[in-house]
Amino acid sequence: MFENLSDRLERSFKILKGEGKITEINVAETLKEVRRALLDADVNYKTAKEFTETVKQKALGQNVLTAVKPQQLMVKIVHDELATLMGGTATDINIKGNPAVILMSGLQGSGKTTFSGKLANMLKTKRGKNPLLVAGDVYRPAAIEQLKILGEQIGVSVYSEEENKNPVKIAQNALQYARQHGKDLVIIDTAGRLAIDEAMMNEISAIKKAVDPEEILFVVDAMTGQDAVNTAKEFNDRLNFDGVVLTKLDGDTRGGAALSIRSVVDKPIKFVGTGEKLDAVDVFHPERMADRILG
Ligand code: GDP
Repeated sequence: MFENLSDRLERSFKILKGEGKITEINVAETLKEVRRALLDADVNYKTAKEFTETVKQKALGQNVLTAVKPQQLMVKIVHDELATLMGGTATDINIKGNPAVILMSGLQGSGKTTFSGKLANMLKTKRGKNPLLVAGDVYRPAAIEQLKILGEQIGVSVYSEEENKNPVKIAQNALQYARQHGKDLVIIDTAGRLAIDEAMMNEISAIKKAVDPEEILFVVDAMTGQDAVNTAKEFNDRLNFDGVVLTKLDGDTRGGAALSIRSVVDKPIKFVGTGEKLDAVDVFHPERMADRILG
């Protein structure tokens, strides 16, 4: 994950090796490379520009006050700013309600169904929740079947209505079922399309209105880079979601989505998916991700 970005940043910092002090010139040279590395990692242009500007101000400002070597100083500043760029600290999900309702959104293939299973499993085993998974993708029978299989694997009930093609009604019925059966958490998987379209947005907005979820998560494939960021923006404009789930971070992703989403959409990344298996999920920690990027 992010290997190329890590290598490129490391090489950028080498420009400062052996330099006695930070100067306008060596900072500019280093940050030119840092910015290129970010752009090649598919970071949003404006984000990369603002990032290097902030690092420049900090580097030039701190130099006089510190005895630290220029290279180390730059690594530290870039590290801290990368963490800040990704949101600073981890952000928890809202699951106080009883039942707490979590609504999944995102394009088809982003990993919504898989993540619904992962999240149910995580909240069941780590936080003692009694979840209900809801099959809200009524257009693909395979999606209902997939959720049922996941549910069986983790010992979580799945609510579905094979004959009902109205996802709003299904979500409402599921909520009622949850109340009657002592489920304190309802996770609603929804239908996605290959691209954003009006019908999908109207449908998920209607589900949101009907069940008033405490948490709306937007699930996106990290491998899609800046497309992920653009899709996030469109979903957020319509849904005002609470957090992002970045999936497929185990793949050959360059890092652009992880680094740009927060600054473009101003919503935290809350979880990352790191594989197809049900335990391949982590809470997103910006600091730890910055550690990883800088090796
Ligand atoms: P949905 O259409 O949004 O519900 O997407 P799915 O949950 O069906 O996932 C689409 C494909 O991506 C499936 O083959 C999943 O196994 C795979 N997938 C989901 N999350 C991850 C992940 O974090 N890493 C990897 N490598 N594959 C994933």
